Amino acid sequence: MGKKFLTFMKRNLPYLTIVFMVILIIISTFITLSNSHALSKSQYFRRVLSCALEKYWDLKYGINVNDIDSNIVKYQNLFDVQRMEIYIVTNFSSEEIKGKTIITPLDLSDTLNRIYLNFYSNMKVNYVKLNDNVVEYTHQDNLLMINSRNKVIKNDTFRIEIGYSGKPYNKGFDSFSFKNIEGNKYVYTLNEPNFASTWFPCKDLPSDKFILNYFEITVPTGMWAVSNGILVKRESLDSLYDVFGWKSNYQIATYLVSFAAGNYDYWKDSVILSDAKLLPLDYYTFPSYTERAKKDWKKIPEMVKYFSNLIAEYPFSNEKYGMIMFGWNDGAMEHQTITSIGYKLVTGENKNELTIVHELVHQWFGDAITPKSWKDIWLNEGFATYGEVLWTEYTKGKEAAKNLLANLDIGNFSGTLYDPQGFIFGSTVYNKGAWVLHMLRGVVGDSTFFKILSTYYDKYKFGNANTRDFKKVCEDVTGIDLTYFFDQWVFTGTGRPIYEYSYQTEDYVTIDSIPYFMLRLTIEQKQKDQEVYKMPVQVTIVTEKEKNIITFFNSKRTQTFVQPIKGKLISLEIDKDNYILKSIKPLEDKKNKQ
Ligand SMILES: [Zn+2]
Repeated sequence: MGKKFLTFMKRNLPYLTIVFMVILIIISTFITLSNSHALSKSQYFRRVLSCALEKYWDLKYGINVNDIDSNIVKYQNLFDVQRMEIYIVTNFSSEEIKGKTIITPLDLSDTLNRIYLNFYSNMKVNYVKLNDNVVEYTHQDNLLMINSRNKVIKNDTFRIEIGYSGKPYNKGFDSFSFKNIEGNKYVYTLNEPNFASTWFPCKDLPSDKFILNYFEITVPTGMWAVSNGILVKRESLDSLYDVFGWKSNYQIATYLVSFAAGNYDYWKDSVILSDAKLLPLDYYTFPSYTERAKKDWKKIPEMVKYFSNLIAEYPFSNEKYGMIMFGWNDGAMEHQTITSIGYKLVTGENKNELTIVHELVHQWFGDAITPKSWKDIWLNEGFATYGEVLWTEYTKGKEAAKNLLANLDIGNFSGTLYDPQGFIFGSTVYNKGAWVLHMLRGVVGDSTFFKILSTYYDKYKFGNANTRDFKKVCEDVTGIDLTYFFDQWVFTGTGRPIYEYSYQTEDYVTIDSIPYFMLRLTIEQKQKDQEVYKMPVQVTIVTEKEKNIITFFNSKRTQTFVQPIKGKLISLEIDKDNYILKSIKPLEDKKNKQ
């Protein structure tokens, strides 16, 4: 999409949005209608709404990581960033920044003649130094190309220093904003997926994690400036400015680097982790929201404990977990060790507990384990969304978790879970992602499922993983080939099984005057996207004499299961606990008889 088009769109957005949404609703209604036999009415409306909303976000924010230039990425992968230092001086009146970034990469090749860094072209580069010498560079098409011919050595680190200034673009979901909120001035960032390079030069890919050795932010006196890791410096400069220096010893990706500055109330809580280690919980709130936040955030210690017990100890336990309010109305972002949360989500009535849980779970899945590419984004969002389900199950019970899952099912997800085309933050990635984990739990059982989560975490923490890495862990832990499961739910399948079933019972035999019957259950799959969805199907059978849950492995388009049952059949229910993302109805033309 061209820049001019986007400017035009932004100017006329409210208006065009209405027209656009109407068109979309018509189109998506049409698409949905073509599948409507599979949907209930409420699913149908949710589907229409969610489809229209996703297209709206897509258009408004233009987030499409498919235009990352793979040739440039090939060049960028000739070096591996080890450490970074960032210095930012904020200017609230001009809404500009002055910056210095020091990058220490390792040269992986003897052909590293050009170093490509992502950096938006509107920013002015004042100088580039390579190993302390001023060097030539070009800066165009949002790329900073540094001539490194004969200046770097394979398997050796080198140092790039870049001085720059300018007014960063505000891309994506509010990637860089100076904003007045409730009469106070704030500045904040949100880099995901690749907008770090709007305000500091970097290799803006999730796959190359590094140590953020030092991050210094200069702000007007009286403000707080908050970032990842721990505060190592706080100094006054000419009594006009305050300088905050942060540092983290954990690997981090560019999209998880953040800062927020302004007038904040700072307050603390803490939680004792299992090895008696005290984890500081640091909170920064807009002053008029502090009381509300103190109510809403008081369960965070329990959340940290719960997920530390369930998965593994909180990943960044030597530093902190924190939350800071920023200028979003709603929504939040899992910045490493310091979640940014939209201030209107803080109500004092604990209305958005699941958002808090979601961002916290990202500290394990997203931050500690980062996706190798944006094709694997469900490993972040599906996991964090399933974290909401797990927390609900823990605090409110299985029925509440089941209801939440039912709400997450919008009826008809578009595209594949792996490599979602175009907009990478759609409901497929979040909601179907959570559902796929729930189905995996159904297939392998609870204890194996949680072993998978902790094994996956242990193997890939502080690094990167892709979907195949996760699949491999699932297979290693279970000893089962799960290709069918990942193909139908993650890699190629875009739909769900549409089951139609019928059953009948026949007299069988009487033993000790107890009649045994033969139950014949036939399940047909009617969906069009996949010939067969192979799944274990739980059937709850209630007879006059007993209640049993029998699991059949359904692996054919039409399949009949035969089961002897004790006593006359009273009721039969398929997938009662909702372990399959499905549509289901009894076959009407064949009368079910008992
Ligand atoms: Zn998320």
